[in-house]
Amino acid sequence: MSDTLFMKIIRREIPATIVFEDDLCLAFRDVNPQAPTHILVVPKQPVAMLSDANSEHGPLLGHLLLTANRIAAQLGLKDGYRLVINNGAAAGQTVFHLHVHLLAGRSFSWPPG
Ligand code: 5GP
Repeated sequence: MSDTLFMKIIRREIPATIVFEDDLCLAFRDVNPQAPTHILVVPKQPVAMLSDANSEHGPLLGHLLLTANRIAAQLGLKDGYRLVINNGAAAGQTVFHLHVHLLAGRSFSWPPG
């Protein structure tokens, strides 16, 4: 997979407001937030999109979800949150480095737009 915007953020070549980091992932605030809290949880191992993942990525994918939940708890998001993964351009994906959106701080409608 070619270099991505998020790899540049992981390498600190592009600034971001980082809220969490461990060996497997980095979480930072979205530059164009769609809710009062909008954080991206990004694996350090680049995978372009969820549909490129396989069973070997299972632990990593679980880690991303658990990390999002951990961040939500740390930020005190008691009124709930929404996690989103856009898979492919038709689904709204614009950065082809897998990431989980963590959105909170407002009401969310269903079905999503
Ligand atoms: P996608 O549309 O691929 O699901 O989500 C990509 C997200 O990355 C978008 O919400 C967009 O606002 C965010 N984004 C794009 N460029 C940057 C950047 O340079 N810094 C940060 N922090 N977020 C970015």
